[in-house]
Amino acid sequence: MTVYNFSAGPAVLPTPVLEQAQSEFTDYKGSGMSVMELSHRSSLFDAIIKDAEKRLRELMSIPDNYHVLFLQGGASLQFSMVPLNLAQNKKALYVNTGSWSKKAIAAAKELGNVEVEVIASSAKDNFTYIPEITPDMIDQDAAYLHITTNNTIVGTAYKSIPNAGNVPIVADMSSNILANDYDVKDFGIIYAGAQKNIGPAGLTVVIIRDDLLGLYEVNEPMLDYKTQAAANSLYNTPPTFAIYIAQLVFKWLQELGGLPEILKQDQEKAQLLYDAIEKSNLFTSPVRPDSRSLTNIPFVTGNAKLDQKFNVEALAAGFENLKGHRSVGGMRASLYNAFPKEGVQALVTFMEKFEKENGGL
Ligand SMILES: *Cc1c(COP(=O)(O)O)cnc(C)c1O
Repeated sequence: MTVYNFSAGPAVLPTPVLEQAQSEFTDYKGSGMSVMELSHRSSLFDAIIKDAEKRLRELMSIPDNYHVLFLQGGASLQFSMVPLNLAQNKKALYVNTGSWSKKAIAAAKELGNVEVEVIASSAKDNFTYIPEITPDMIDQDAAYLHITTNNTIVGTAYKSIPNAGNVPIVADMSSNILANDYDVKDFGIIYAGAQKNIGPAGLTVVIIRDDLLGLYEVNEPMLDYKTQAAANSLYNTPPTFAIYIAQLVFKWLQELGGLPEILKQDQEKAQLLYDAIEKSNLFTSPVRPDSRSLTNIPFVTGNAKLDQKFNVEALAAGFENLKGHRSVGGMRASLYNAFPKEGVQALVTFMEKFEKENGGL
């Protein structure tokens, strides 16, 4: 049975990448060693990490005045590292667009010396849209404005990046990095856990503008962007195998035609599913049309029992991980870059069949 993996993360990876990793698994480039067995200071691994960075820079057109860091601790550690490095005894602005924003806000408050201000929120509408941010809402003395560009759980995404004047924008881009047409120059920091759209879990990518390094004394070297940048992500042992897989994913994306091509594919895939939801008399999207994510698409029948029936039958038919997040219920299809269009077509066909069989319930 063909299996389609709709997981929100850790998520589907490109088959050619997995196959290349398999073919090199026990003997990387004739070394007689696996990538997992290489010293992180070896020339073979040095070539991997440098090439991964080079390719990511090319893909995202990252300007030279930004550092690319390969760290650990997940996007969740960035919730603390950002305020620790940027906003001690200062004000930090947040937009609350769902569970991950809330966690970022909570972590900044937890530090104790950051004045956290939530300037906009869609909480009272179950986070079903991205609130509008206008320049007058941004205190120009704030250390940064934090946004979550794609809200993995509720399925919303920013279609354009707010104008924050001189206040750097910090973006949690975990679930739509490499699946958007944002401009890196609009951000002070971009961070993303790799396990959604980049590679395996264990790696966190941070893209940070030079002037945001070393603003404060951070007495924890591992948590100091400046230390990590000065060491080129090799302050300690980085997640070497995850970086290697990320390198292969970046190469795969470039060979496909880079971001313009993958974005076209992502739009086509998402459109297929949104069209099916629009057309259906059974399924609806809880998300306001102007805020809909390309990468995470929730849908519901409006009847929890029917949702459950759908999920049971979908799973039996090879649609893995379609069940919505426990906080939202229903279904959620995560259509990251590596997710094949055939899988969306198969899901749409399955939804039509289910609706015929159950529409009258
Ligand atoms: C998954 C996710 C996180 C959490 O990432 P970890 O790497 O598990 O810490 C944070 N933010 C967003 C938007 C996510 O999708």
